[in-house]
Amino acid sequence: MTTSFYAPLSAIREQAYVVLPEDEAAHAVRVLRKRPGDEIVVVDGAGGWHRVRLDHADRKGASGTILETRREVGEPAYALSIGLALLKNRSRFETFLEKAVELGVREVIPLRTHRTGKGQFKVHRAEQVLIAAMKQCGRSRLVRLAAPQPLAAVLGQGDVDLALLAHEQAAPDRSLVRVLAAHPAAPSLRVLIGPEGGFTDEEVEAARQAGYAPVSLGPRRLRAETAALVAASAVMTARL
Ligand code: SAH
Repeated sequence: MTTSFYAPLSAIREQAYVVLPEDEAAHAVRVLRKRPGDEIVVVDGAGGWHRVRLDHADRKGASGTILETRREVGEPAYALSIGLALLKNRSRFETFLEKAVELGVREVIPLRTHRTGKGQFKVHRAEQVLIAAMKQCGRSRLVRLAAPQPLAAVLGQGDVDLALLAHEQAAPDRSLVRVLAAHPAAPSLRVLIGPEGGFTDEEVEAARQAGYAPVSLGPRRLRAETAALVAASAVMTARL
């Protein structure tokens, strides 16, 4: 499967015509040597997948006619949101972002918790990682990267059907796999993952009060980004 191109909805005219953004056009013309008449796939990041015939492709730009549109190509039937505490190591956070795209995550919320310290990441770089991964793995939705926010702000949203908090002290019989098996059709889910130092007892209790059930990811202490990958993989596997 060849890599798709990305054009935001604003670049799609009347559902019939696509003008590729400059960097995408340059890649199509200079690197992939696309010419007028060639067909490409363009995804719009909002669940739209378009087969496009190029009418114009040169050093000044590329645009084409939409021949066919499909919806939600490469997308899972559920909406999974992962709240991951900001990590001290920025590249580990960015690596998780790329894997989250491949594993069908819908949204990533960078969390500020009591123990996140100076965790941060570069928004522009993160967005480029998300776009590249979407094109590479054949999705049509761009993973939503929320603004970094305190745990309390997320707890107050109350916007998911199944709200979970990954906690290494959760009872073994409260494994994520068992909880997912008990909720096989939850349309929207969120799993919260703590920082290197973990959630505080107060944070776990506040989450529980807000309806977030603590779940175990097994008997070992996983790195935060590993725990986030395990959570995304468990949901994907349970819902394939
Ligand atoms: N609190 C531990 C490590 C935290 S690991 C310590 O004191 O070192 C970072 C986060 O990964 C945790 O907050 C939790 O959300 C998740 N996590 C790691 N291992 C887990 C496990 N076995 N079960 C559930 N969650 C886990």
